Amino acid sequence: MPLNLVFIGPPGAGKGTVAGMVAREWQIPHLSTGEMLRSEIAKASALGKFVQSIVASGGLVDDQTVSQIVEQRIKEQDCLQGFILDGFPRNVQQAIILDGLLAAHEKNVSAAVLFFIPEEALVKRLSGRRYCPKCSRTYNMYTPELMPKKDSVCNDCGVILQQRADDRSESVRKRLHIYNTHIAPLLKFYQEKNLLLQLKADGSIQENVSRLKELLKH
Ligand code: AMP
Repeated sequence: MPLNLVFIGPPGAGKGTVAGMVAREWQIPHLSTGEMLRSEIAKASALGKFVQSIVASGGLVDDQTVSQIVEQRIKEQDCLQGFILDGFPRNVQQAIILDGLLAAHEKNVSAAVLFFIPEEALVKRLSGRRYCPKCSRTYNMYTPELMPKKDSVCNDCGVILQQRADDRSESVRKRLHIYNTHIAPLLKFYQEKNLLLQLKADGSIQENVSRLKELLKH
């Protein structure tokens, strides 16, 4: 049975890092809507230009636009064996749209994993987050496993690391506020379907990966 996972959690909870690791191990795609949007922005495509200021300010892109990029991606062949959706759905409307998209391809969500962590830890993680503008690899100045070998330089590309525009404090506050506004109904949606799993995401990366595997065994 394909494992179609949805990762839910506030910005900075480590969803992307854990998703990247297990997706590589299980050889299924890691579908991050934030990453897809950032790549459109970097390409300066019509979609990228449309969403640039929304993403930079920490606002949410409209449900229709995000759902369309998810639909395009989920139809691809490599998603047949399963996938990890990271950052989508972010509200109940998107969860309903996702169910519809999957049903059209005779698929469904296998589990929705909530990453939870105290808010102070999130703010610290987000302020330490950096990325390589060339290869998109993510680093963190406060997480030993994610520190670059040489200060502020990508291990692979040698390019100077950057901070995401939406990881600056004004946008972080807005993103956390938006997250808190939408999360309760979204969790209820998956709880009622008996699909919600809760992951305590305050451990090291390896601990969080092990906790995820443990949760999925049950
Ligand atoms: P992330 O990398 O998941 O933190 O997403 C970065 C930004 O991309 C968000 O703050 C939103 O502006 C946008 N975004 C990503 N996923 C979604 C989504 N499911 N719905 C609306 N906006 C999204």
